[in-house]
Amino acid sequence: LLAPDGSIASTIFAEMSALAQRTGAINLGQGFPDEDGPAEVLEAARAAIADGVNQYPPGRGLSVLREAVAEHQRRFYGLEVDPETEVLVTAGATEALAATLLALLEPGDEVVTFEPYYDAYGGVIALAGGVHRTVPLRRPGFQPDLDELRSAVTDRTRVILINNPHNPTGAVFDRATLELVVELAERHDAVIVTDEVYEHLTFGVRHIPVATLPGAAERTVTISSAGKTFSTTGWKIGWAISTPELITAVLAVKQFLTYVNGAPFQPAIAAGLALPDAYYADVASTLQGKRDLLAAGLEAAGFEVTRPDGTYFVVADAAPLGYRDGAQLCRDLPGLAGVVGVPISAFCGPGLAAEYSSLVRFAFCKRVPVLERAVAQLSALS
Ligand code: PMP
Ligand code: GLN
Repeated sequence: LLAPDGSIASTIFAEMSALAQRTGAINLGQGFPDEDGPAEVLEAARAAIADGVNQYPPGRGLSVLREAVAEHQRRFYGLEVDPETEVLVTAGATEALAATLLALLEPGDEVVTFEPYYDAYGGVIALAGGVHRTVPLRRPGFQPDLDELRSAVTDRTRVILINNPHNPTGAVFDRATLELVVELAERHDAVIVTDEVYEHLTFGVRHIPVATLPGAAERTVTISSAGKTFSTTGWKIGWAISTPELITAVLAVKQFLTYVNGAPFQPAIAAGLALPDAYYADVASTLQGKRDLLAAGLEAAGFEVTRPDGTYFVVADAAPLGYRDGAQLCRDLPGLAGVVGVPISAFCGPGLAAEYSSLVRFAFCKRVPVLERAVAQLSALS
């Protein structure tokens, strides 16, 4: 986890946000919205602070939030979840992932993920002493080859870790892929850990939680977060949902990571989860318009673009513009076009990093005038 000179290697997101700050370029690198989320949620946090919800909450999280998470699973997915024993509030999805993998893995156990993968996965698997096996996502749609998935999962596999909708590619996985994940987990007695933080950010396709598939819930840890759905990435309120046994194991780790977190934000996110369906529909349709704006602008600038079905990221290939090295392009892009992106190679091991070296991820969770300005500036590239 350290750089060769012993210094801490900063994440690509921190590096690119620092570059944007230094140069004044438009930051389409790190994925965070540039607007606040719903007023009801912000007001509920202020009210909680004023009401004195400022001390340690219970270890599993405030019951008002655990109940809201359970009700959310019922309302959107028809899943019955016991808020007392099957929900754990965490410091973002990141802590839920870390606590889950630290709880499940013995040194040498294998974890299968798709590749590209969210950078924290590699870090946490390493912290837990696990061995990371990956299945590449292939263009045009960044879907896995199901035979490659079949051969990656073996009796050495302790965890199949999926991320759906998928950061950084924006891919959404279909039922057949998820059914195979469940079948393989059953055959090899693996646990499915599913990171669904972008569950509400899909465009014209339906998100299928893996826990809704037959046989899945009893071996699945579902992880999500309020950050994306309510534009509160800095609050770090996330959760894990699983069987009482698995949640107890995750709690056993969480209690020594952060113990508890975010007391006044917990009732605020409970209020968010109770917002009407129209709120969720609006989040998705607003983002879809922004996706189309940025994707069209990138295409007009000469990139080859994969339009994502989910998340707030779009992958653009700079090869048609003559740029083969996306990491170098990202360093140069503030000077060339006043825009910051993130190279896809940062989400890959060495093999796929070479294959995907000309790909760059741009975030479209920004105000329309900001995206319009970015598109106008990017046109300088062509
Ligand atoms: N998983 C994925 C795929 C993400 O993109 C993010 C957000 N960057 C996280 C987990 C982390 O979520 P949180 O901020 O809630 O820890
Ligand atoms: N999830 C966001 C992204 O992928 C931010 C991640 C981070 O800053 N660690 O850009």
